[in-house]
Amino acid sequence: MPPANAAREILRRLHEVMASRTGAEAKLGQVVRIIAQALSSEVASIYLLRDGMLELYATQGLSQAAVHVTRLAMGQGLIGVIAATREPLNLAEAREHPDFAYRPETGEELYHSLAGVPIVRREAAIGVLAVQHREPRDYDDVEIEALQTVAMALSELIHGAGMVDDAEAARARATNTLPGRLQGLRLVDGLARGVAVFHQPRVIIEHTMADDVEAERNRVQTGFLRLRQQIDAMMGTAEFSAGGDHQEVLETYKMFAYDEGWLRRINEAIDTGLTAEAAIDRVQARTRARMRSIEDPYLRERLADLDDLANRLLRIVSGQLGTAAQMGLPGDTILLARNLGPAELLEYDRRFLKGVVLEEGSLTAHVTIVARAMGVPMLGRVPELFGQVSEGDELIVDAGNGMLLLRPQAAMIKGYTEMSEARARRAESFARLRDLPAVSRDGRRIEVMMNAGLADDTQALDQTGADGIGLFRTEFQFLVSATLPRRERQQALYKHVLDAAGDRPVVFRTVDIGGDKTVPYLSGGEDDENPAMGWRALRLALGRTGLMKVQARALLQAAAGRTLNVMFPMVSEPWEFAEAKALVEAQRALLARQGHPLPSRVAYGAMIEVPALIEVLDHLLPMTDFVSVGTNDLTQFLFAADRANPRLADRYDWLSPAILRVLRRIVRAAGAAGKPVTVCGEMGGRPLEALALLAIGIDRLSITPAGIGPVKAMVRSTDLAVITEAMQGWLDAPGSDVRACLSALASEQGIDLG
Ligand code: PEP
Ligand code: MG
Repeated sequence: MPPANAAREILRRLHEVMASRTGAEAKLGQVVRIIAQALSSEVASIYLLRDGMLELYATQGLSQAAVHVTRLAMGQGLIGVIAATREPLNLAEAREHPDFAYRPETGEELYHSLAGVPIVRREAAIGVLAVQHREPRDYDDVEIEALQTVAMALSELIHGAGMVDDAEAARARATNTLPGRLQGLRLVDGLARGVAVFHQPRVIIEHTMADDVEAERNRVQTGFLRLRQQIDAMMGTAEFSAGGDHQEVLETYKMFAYDEGWLRRINEAIDTGLTAEAAIDRVQARTRARMRSIEDPYLRERLADLDDLANRLLRIVSGQLGTAAQMGLPGDTILLARNLGPAELLEYDRRFLKGVVLEEGSLTAHVTIVARAMGVPMLGRVPELFGQVSEGDELIVDAGNGMLLLRPQAAMIKGYTEMSEARARRAESFARLRDLPAVSRDGRRIEVMMNAGLADDTQALDQTGADGIGLFRTEFQFLVSATLPRRERQQALYKHVLDAAGDRPVVFRTVDIGGDKTVPYLSGGEDDENPAMGWRALRLALGRTGLMKVQARALLQAAAGRTLNVMFPMVSEPWEFAEAKALVEAQRALLARQGHPLPSRVAYGAMIEVPALIEVLDHLLPMTDFVSVGTNDLTQFLFAADRANPRLADRYDWLSPAILRVLRRIVRAAGAAGKPVTVCGEMGGRPLEALALLAIGIDRLSITPAGIGPVKAMVRSTDLAVITEAMQGWLDAPGSDVRACLSALASEQGIDLG
């Protein structure tokens, strides 16, 4: 009988066995006889996990005296290796394999060849199904697949009969994988320990055997239709139409989603008697096996895309659609995703979210800024993450060292504990600085403010001793909301922030939506080929004045009786600033006419993020009360390097003379016009980068709350005059390696860089 037909025949007869009234053990006895007969093998055996050991439970062909006697540990003998690796073995000469462990009680010396596959439940091997032949022979792929199909069905039978419980499977999952480490890019510094949770959880397949083949085929067909609709819709949305990586991935997705060959293979698996879910999983396992054997990184990536898509199809077909955020986190969690949007991250419960690891990710993507604001360590650019980590694995994220530790053992855990204690001591020393001003050794007072965007962020004001909020990203409220936040909600948030800040200044930036911060209810830039340079921020706001007017009224009313600092993002030409200011002023006049109490003063600021604006500062500055440099965007536009592109994440240095010279020009122009200038991009939150900023004359920083202690410590240990003079020399000389020079001088001067 051809193996594919054999699998179908075995599954048909398994159905009968499952329906029969015999005991579970007797059923397994029948099963091995059926398998041996259908596959014409001399031996068929089933080993099951019991108390952590793989025990021979049923055999046709080996000595019956070995049943319940032959026991192997995970990883021991060929059976143990199959279970530990969860991979099939296919051997013409089993005894030549280095892991072969001879068990005389079985009488297996008569047999040369062996093919074995794991019996898997919920990603854990709960047993092994093996066949043996007297003559040395290689089993072909179709035979191995037939065994795998049967093993899937067995898993349901075994679980249904209560022969291996879920607790045993969970223990197996924990013990059948080895510790390891993966390298990545530090996106948000920090240290965290928890269990792996996939942002898009793996689907749990409860039923593997189907009664009605036609019904299962229909389910897959419908699933494919929905999958295709989803991919087509994704290709049309703003977030993905930017070209580059996403575009490429989506093109591949589309190709697979419309691939009739894939559907056909799934249908063939269904024809053997599997449910739609089990059939998709079966075909997916084949993809994964191929993925492991392919060297070419491009092809591997494409197969990873197919794997991703198969997960999506599984979610659709099984109806298990939610993200981990919607299902609730189990406890201390390390969240794993290929990539995330800022709004998706904000859905997670901060109390349990201890760390985030991404296959992609970059330093100034907004999801990174959100993670930083949430105080969650984040590691990015960890390739093949999902091939190495299973859900529920214990993990340690050591973002500072760009490291992810998998299934750590005692020594690693000890190292982690020591590191976290050292961090705690350092945090204590920062806490002691909380009420001390950031004054350099030579007496320069630096204002160190913090960036914020959510109501909860205001707690960090008192915890860190920040001098105020130098950038409040108002669009975060829009990102976390499913619908457009009404004026009342906006106003309540702004008032809450002002109340929390008390005497300390708060700078509200009007909505910066678009680019990588899209919200479903605000359309505008969906068709932009390059959203970062498209219909975003002030451009969108000036085009949708209704939105801007509502926000202006919310801000003006929230700040009644106090100073209101408003700042506009992505100003590209002075007239845009003038128009935005006029719009707010008009709302101020309107509210005054209506008799509403108003702010005692309104100060207007422009963000400097677009290089063109720097050429016309002489025109802009007189209209403003202050300016703030957004180095995240300014850097991406200066270098023409997408801030969200992981491949460019560490290509250009913030300490390059190009950036520092441009910033110095801004400082000089603002100084001449008598207007204060702040740097509010991510670079200011790193002590060495902050030191460079101070050395070119910046006196005000607005940074991530976690950076305040380290930056204060840096300022208080520095003689800024010395650094300023040296910086002048480096920037005036062409080709300086400012990072190297500054690091060397800082260490010579004993500056505390954390
Ligand atoms: C910036 O661009 O540096 C900035 C502070 O704004 P955002 O990161 O929100 O774009
Ligand atoms: Mg910006």
